[in-house]
Amino acid sequence: MGKLYVVATPIGNLKDITLRALEVLQSVNIIAAEDTRQTLKLLNHYGISGKKLISYHNYNEKEISEKLINILKTEDVALVSDAGTPCISDPGYRVVKKARESSIEVVPIPGPFAAAVALSASGLPSDKFLFVGFLPNKERERETDLGEYIDLGFTFILYESPKRVLKTLNLLNKLNPDADVVVAKELTKIHESFIFGKPIEIVNFFENNLEKLKGEFVILVYPKKEKNIDIEEILKEAKNLKKEGKKTKEIAFLLSNKYGLPKNLIYEKIKNLEI
Ligand code: SAM
Repeated sequence: MGKLYVVATPIGNLKDITLRALEVLQSVNIIAAEDTRQTLKLLNHYGISGKKLISYHNYNEKEISEKLINILKTEDVALVSDAGTPCISDPGYRVVKKARESSIEVVPIPGPFAAAVALSASGLPSDKFLFVGFLPNKERERETDLGEYIDLGFTFILYESPKRVLKTLNLLNKLNPDADVVVAKELTKIHESFIFGKPIEIVNFFENNLEKLKGEFVILVYPKKEKNIDIEEILKEAKNLKKEGKKTKEIAFLLSNKYGLPKNLIYEKIKNLEI
């Protein structure tokens, strides 16, 4: 049995390849690649030659996966995409799934992943995040999905084509004008840049610099929603808890957890509350 190596490749700068990735690409005879011309550029750059490249796209994935599984019964195969990590907004999932089902060993060779590269340098909260990838094409679905991600309240990451960057930023402005947004452009390449601001500020920036709407983009969003706080409701609840015999400190703790507000703030509001 061969092994299926899932090999991450650079997202721009060809130096961003690991020693292990080069070792694997050198050792296998067969490389399943998305666009064989793109992969050849990488192989040529590193002086790797004599490989059989099999073209593997979203539209021939089913048929080629079967072919690859047959090959894997006797020898190793490396799977690469045009850039970054295969299977992430890229083809590969089917062959990995089939390999798993056929008890073929799958070995990840980690490397660049544009979303993580962008997040690491964005300055947005990164303790918890959602990777979305490309939004759907249909307007209504895009809006519904974006609304859901905004409601989650933590950073989410979109991939976007240059044609749709402005559209997406305008939609963000409509749904969450206070969000903190970072547009990461052309990561690891000569024209790498990060644009920061509220959605409308970034819209204005691109509208004044239309020539900058070229290249590859990651959009990172940290949603911000004004909490609709009903202070009367909080005081009513605090009164009831006091009637139950709870201490002011405990009530402040309970309500701060419930409403996501600072404990001290609630304490100040309820400390002189008469029951
Ligand atoms: N598999 C890749 C990965 O690991 O990130 C993603 C491939 S997906 C088809 C291509 C999208 O990834 C682009 O449209 C862009 O949103 C993002 N992307 C890839 N390379 C990038 C780069 N150098 N700078 C900014 N975004 C990039």
